[in-house]
Amino acid sequence: RDPLWSRGLGDVYKRQVIIGGGPGGYTAAIRAAQLGAEVTLIEKDSMGGTCLNVGCIPTKALIHSADLYRKIRTEAGKNGIIIGQDVTCDFESMQKKKSQVVKQLVTGVGSLMKANGIRVIKGTAAFTSDKAVEIRSEGETSELTFDKAVIASGSIPSALPIEGAELAGVVDSTGALSFDEIPGSLCIIGGGVIGIEMAHIYSSLGSKVTIVEMLPDILMNMDSDITAVMRKIMKKNKVSILTGTKVGGIEEAGEALSVKVTDDQGEESVIEAEKVLMCVGRRPATEGLGLEAAGVKTEKGRIITDENFRTTSEDIYAIGDCTGGIMLAHVASAEGIAAVEHIMGKTPNIDFDTVPSCVYTSPELAGVGLTEKGASERGTDYITGKFPMMASGKALIEGETSGLVKIIAEAGTGKVLGLHICGPQATELIAEGALAIRMGATAEDIISTIHAHPSVAETIQEAAHDLLGSALNMPPAR
Ligand code: FAD
Repeated sequence: RDPLWSRGLGDVYKRQVIIGGGPGGYTAAIRAAQLGAEVTLIEKDSMGGTCLNVGCIPTKALIHSADLYRKIRTEAGKNGIIIGQDVTCDFESMQKKKSQVVKQLVTGVGSLMKANGIRVIKGTAAFTSDKAVEIRSEGETSELTFDKAVIASGSIPSALPIEGAELAGVVDSTGALSFDEIPGSLCIIGGGVIGIEMAHIYSSLGSKVTIVEMLPDILMNMDSDITAVMRKIMKKNKVSILTGTKVGGIEEAGEALSVKVTDDQGEESVIEAEKVLMCVGRRPATEGLGLEAAGVKTEKGRIITDENFRTTSEDIYAIGDCTGGIMLAHVASAEGIAAVEHIMGKTPNIDFDTVPSCVYTSPELAGVGLTEKGASERGTDYITGKFPMMASGKALIEGETSGLVKIIAEAGTGKVLGLHICGPQATELIAEGALAIRMGATAEDIISTIHAHPSVAETIQEAAHDLLGSALNMPPAR
């Protein structure tokens, strides 16, 4: 038991209610139970929330299968593996494997709840006051009072208010994860992380994919050197990307759908596709929570919180996607831990400068801290160091040499401000950048840390060398 418990604080805030069993809610529940609270978690659907059921996990499961299929076709021969002509894809089995992974993880979360003595109620929660929630479950209604509550109700997909958005064949990310068949052609509206990952899945499986993005580039929150590589890779994989292009409406066109678009020059055209995937962002899920009855205020749909995740109502906290901040599972979990630690009298420590953003394409993309654009907009005096994957032995072995590593550091001190990677295992390697930023490490610290050989991680050390002078495994610049 935490020492706070013996000091009695646990008794004061013993009865905690958590609304939502996603990565924010279930992690908060475990931490609160560890700190001695009596926790009830209310989940209306399936434990694990968006992340486990229709988000992070199913996308990555399909990406893994689609990648394997593509690599067997394109890489096996180069590695001396003779497969023959008949490599086919059984999409139904891929979907089954995805569902099995989801089921196993959802069951695992349920077991964790039991093991931590957390009461889970299946039902829909709504506040009746700032001290009680009503739970509706299979026609029955019950009420539960609490000392403290944490709202972790997540988010739902946004849709463009355009004609044809409701047509059969127009889906959101959840729909795109459960297609019965691989669509012959797919038009993806939105070139953010989800759009790019879906483009990667379906282009690897043979669909003709077109991405339509209103902004001037795809993946606008990533460093432009990294997205430039991704654009080339997408082109190689025959994915068309139309940036600076607006969607006007969608119409039925026989068996297919036709998407009307207008580019930044005012030029109109039409994209025909079997399916249209709309992934234009997500919005906080706050409807029906009875927030007014509890005195919890919102702004443009997102729940307003202070730096400790406390809402405008004294005893109610809110974390994760429903607060409209950085909509990522690891952020929701970190916020959940911080909120319940604050409730239990601790001083939580959460550093948003160390939040990694990852894109699970092939190669993977990952970034943490400032991008070069961000550094220049802030007026920071910075220097950059780069190292190409082409010069990495391990990347060459793995056949993924198109990317690079880029470090952004403070001029003068060499303090690491940002790390951006396009290459094999980028989503694993990015943890080194997050830790460097957290510890206030410099390029010199990275250089003097011995990195294993051969490893893709060596490219980070080489980029640090480049930042301070010259990389070792690259000819010096003239
Ligand atoms: P959620 O996971 O949305 O959970 C909220 C839960 O609350 C839900 O289970 C819901 O049923 C429940 N709930 C809502 N209202 C009530 C109520 N009134 N009563 C009871 N229960 C209620 N993030 C990453 O970090 N990495 C990724 O790779 C990644 N990939 C993604 C891919 C896709 C396709 C999508 C859609 C999202 C992805 N995300 C990813 C984002 C990630 O899933 C979310 O940021 C994360 O799930 C948010 O966690 P949360 O706990 O705030 O909410």
